Amino acid sequence: MKIGVLALQGAVREHIRHIELAGHEGVAIKKVEQLAEIDGLIIPGGESTTLRRLMNLYGFKEALRESQLPMFGTCAGLIVLAKDIAGEEGYLQKLDITVERNSFGRQVDSFESELHIKGIDQPIEGVFIRAPHIQSTEAAVDVLGTIDDKIIAVQQGRYLGVSFHPELTDDYRMTQYFIEHVMQQ
Ligand code: GLN
Repeated sequence: MKIGVLALQGAVREHIRHIELAGHEGVAIKKVEQLAEIDGLIIPGGESTTLRRLMNLYGFKEALRESQLPMFGTCAGLIVLAKDIAGEEGYLQKLDITVERNSFGRQVDSFESELHIKGIDQPIEGVFIRAPHIQSTEAAVDVLGTIDDKIIAVQQGRYLGVSFHPELTDDYRMTQYFIEHVMQQ
């Protein structure tokens, strides 16, 4: 499989490394024309306001709204996929969820935690950096993981979103799950 990583902001190289560890080909996506070459797209974390601004600037909003490509959003990438961002309208609106930004409190801006993710056997290490959480989900959304009663991983058909940064550890199973399970839906 050929998997694109939206390369406007964030840990692009780390995501490509995970794709390669999972045995697939990763490519940095900088222009909308490149979307035609890939089988799935990862939208990395960063800062979602900046990310949305850059996506507007390079024409990714329209292209991805219309696209049927499977997508995996991590952290800010999850925010970008949501139908609603508490207090504002959602952006790509691929996942029928409401997200709240920076929702783990100021004292614990960043932390790591062992996570149990539905469909993945052993716990995975999640790195949270000023992370969003998922406040509510509609019926078509499958909740894959929670932490302290907050939803942090969801899937809806060929769309996957997580609050954390799987690419910042050596454990590539979340990316593998996207490619080998979610993309096949
Ligand atoms: N707090 C950021 C936002 O709201 C997301 C942080 C991240 O992607 N690590 O956009």
